[in-house]
Amino acid sequence: MPGGVNSPVRAFCAVGGEPIFIRRAYGATLEDVDGRRYVDFVGSWGPMIVGHAHPRVVHAIKEAVDRGTSYGAPTAAEVELGEVIQQAYPSMEMVRMTSSGTEAVMGALRAARGYTGRELVVKFEGCYHGGADYLLVKAGSGAATFGEPDSAGVPKAIANTTISLSYNDVELVRRLFKDRGSEIAAVIVEPVAGNMGCVPPTEGFLETLRELTIHSGSLLVFDEIMTGFRVAYGGAQERFSVSPDLTTLGKIVGGGLPVGVYGGRRAIMEKVSPLGPVYQAGTLSGNPLATAAGLATIEILRSKEVYVRLEQLGRELEQILRNAAARARVSITIQRIASMLTLFFSSKPVHCWQDAASCDTARFAHWHRAMLQQGVYWPPSQYEAAFLSLAHDTAAMESTKKAAENAFYSL
Ligand SMILES: *Cc1c(COP(=O)(O)O)cnc(C)c1O
Repeated sequence: MPGGVNSPVRAFCAVGGEPIFIRRAYGATLEDVDGRRYVDFVGSWGPMIVGHAHPRVVHAIKEAVDRGTSYGAPTAAEVELGEVIQQAYPSMEMVRMTSSGTEAVMGALRAARGYTGRELVVKFEGCYHGGADYLLVKAGSGAATFGEPDSAGVPKAIANTTISLSYNDVELVRRLFKDRGSEIAAVIVEPVAGNMGCVPPTEGFLETLRELTIHSGSLLVFDEIMTGFRVAYGGAQERFSVSPDLTTLGKIVGGGLPVGVYGGRRAIMEKVSPLGPVYQAGTLSGNPLATAAGLATIEILRSKEVYVRLEQLGRELEQILRNAAARARVSITIQRIASMLTLFFSSKPVHCWQDAASCDTARFAHWHRAMLQQGVYWPPSQYEAAFLSLAHDTAAMESTKKAAENAFYSL
């Protein structure tokens, strides 16, 4: 396997050292193949919001597995999951399920292009929307430039169908819409960015995107694969009261099994095959095990106290890190929304990719190693969000506190 891993960020390249091989996980704990235990703040990069191996989720999967693992035909559970999602995300009038977030985004943007008959997609630097060719693009120096591929193997002609702008910069978006609004099929955005570290939208950013897209006949796509059921039960669209045309979900809605969902306005989704000419399909889409795990997870999240508890935990973790840094006189910036949080080694707030890229990544790497040695598994990159789960108990928070105090002193 290239780098010894099946997904690059697992390889610890950004922090040095060797990735840890996991043999099991339960609650907020990861156990490696040597039997060492860690408090986990990665949570499989977002899905594990109720904790690892939650008895209700495990039970639901076990029940489902006895009935067979895939049929390639519709099931009642898919309809039920669709309804649960629709209740939480009223903007998703119709949904289609896939096997990954990447696929969901590709489906959503193909539907957007098919519906509008336009080709141009606008994204924001530092936002990740999966591995599709035309989304592995970032702009130079925050200006509206034509896309340079971020990855080898992406044809320039395809990268040129994407324009990447600086996150939270409404002036750039306004200018682009003024010049080329009629060519833009869709604006896709992480409504709270999580893939350059946690970067909340500044006031008016999402509202401006909503207004400009409506005026030019473009579609607004919220990629809520990370924020869906995370920053609120109804995601960022509920939290910020901005309603997109299309939404993508993943991670939490699969309860730790491979899943993606896209959906939105009926008129757009009716363009998707077999109703319309936009083709998209998947052998394992709406898989019975993933559906069961997703339904069981969302069932747990449905209680209002859950998000109160996650907010408390987030506040507590933030305080632990702030206090530990202050005692060691290390200057940091913490950005948090609910139970997602990033500790930036910078004294300034982070509003966009350029801010994030100016953080002290060497210092982060040192801190990360110190945390790991003391049994805390923090995301192995400065440009990632840490996630809390319902399973982070007092003991987990206590050991995190001790580890953080030592880690900051060691810098
Ligand atoms: C994780 C993620 C994706 C990709 O989902 P996969 O299931 O890894 O393909 C896309 N967009 C966002 C915002 C994500 O966080």
